[in-house]
Amino acid sequence: MATAGKVIKCRAAVAWEPSKPLVMEEIEVAPPQAHEIRIKIVATGVCHTDLYHLFEGKHKDGFPCVLGHEGAGIVESVGSEVTKFNPGDKVIPLFISQCGQCRFCKSPKTNLCEKGWASDRYDVMSESDTRFTCKGKKVLQFMGTSTFSEYTVVNEIAVAKIHPSAPLDKVCLLGCGVATGYGAALNTAKVEPGSTCAVFGLGAVGLAAVMGCKNAGAKRIIAIDINPTKYEKAKVFGATEFVNPKDHNKPISQVLHEMTNGGVDFSLECVGSVAVMRSALESCVKGWGVSVLVGWTDMDDFAARPIQLIAGRTWKGSLFGGFKSKDGVPKLVNEYLEKKVKLDEFVTHNMTLAQVNDAIQLMQTGDCIRSVLSVALQ
Ligand code: NAD
Ligand code: ZN
Repeated sequence: MATAGKVIKCRAAVAWEPSKPLVMEEIEVAPPQAHEIRIKIVATGVCHTDLYHLFEGKHKDGFPCVLGHEGAGIVESVGSEVTKFNPGDKVIPLFISQCGQCRFCKSPKTNLCEKGWASDRYDVMSESDTRFTCKGKKVLQFMGTSTFSEYTVVNEIAVAKIHPSAPLDKVCLLGCGVATGYGAALNTAKVEPGSTCAVFGLGAVGLAAVMGCKNAGAKRIIAIDINPTKYEKAKVFGATEFVNPKDHNKPISQVLHEMTNGGVDFSLECVGSVAVMRSALESCVKGWGVSVLVGWTDMDDFAARPIQLIAGRTWKGSLFGGFKSKDGVPKLVNEYLEKKVKLDEFVTHNMTLAQVNDAIQLMQTGDCIRSVLSVALQ
């Protein structure tokens, strides 16, 4: 590659400050250092967690940054010591690393890793050690990935090499939303055949959770959203019933108890609201009901009556669907290629990186499931 070892100047959407539109800028991307990989991003999805950082979390130490953490691309060049990646490899950058060495990576109980950006900057949500500059200023890498840029640099512990025939404009969704919801149902909730499930929030994450419940053999999958335009899509992924909390003048948990003779076996919160998290827990049946927090928020404390748990319910959380990232993502790509996992059905809009603010607005108004942006030419 003619660009190897040199600074690359390219286009990126920069978030200069919270709550403002992203600005298309020319940025400089430094060459990869030891154990790092420079990736040409071909396609990226827009996930609600990007919006969370921009509009809700607003952590002042997290700006300026380049958002985007649901992308796929091609290796442009590799730094020293990198032996398992070559220029031209198709890859997905990972916001959860898998170093393979730390106590978390060595435990089958978790997909956390002690080495990535997330180990000490969960709240800030960006990597402090960035390879980006713009107009002489350091620009941070959101969740260590920054896929709203034509090029990015990621540590090899946070990159998955994927099947060479994978279509990047589809498998990018496995970099976050689809892996997250799907795994939350399969790996975290451990949904059982014949069970009754409730999924709160029918964005890409919630719809992927519906798909996970279906693939696990759930008998009833109750899809809940305040936006009824989402129900048609939920049916495609396997939902059997639909509930709009706005249609009822009693708590949604009570509605679900009445529909299910005392509560659902599994519930998944895919909204990011502490009030919905509580409803999801209270919608579970006593004795064995399991409720999983998937939606992302760190803004408020949540609350529940202790008797909910004393009576045998379990409340859990799921990050990236519980998948060990470097191992899990290539397998999910293969499952998509084998038609066991749907991806195409999540994509409602195809746009370019320059239209990223339109894509953000579509998510805010609830008029999309996933917008996929083409970034650099393949
Ligand atoms: P999205 O905005 O596309 O979907 C959210 C859905 O929730 C929308 O359809 C909306 O209408 C619905 N909703 C809003 N309020 C509701 C309510 N009170 N009751 C029922 N439904 C309601 O978002 P997304 O990209 O699918 O992400 C969903 C959540 O998952 C976000 O909080 C996101 O930050 C989080 N997330 C978590 C992880 C993780 O690793 N845990 C990873 C990715 C995303
Ligand atoms: Zn995401």
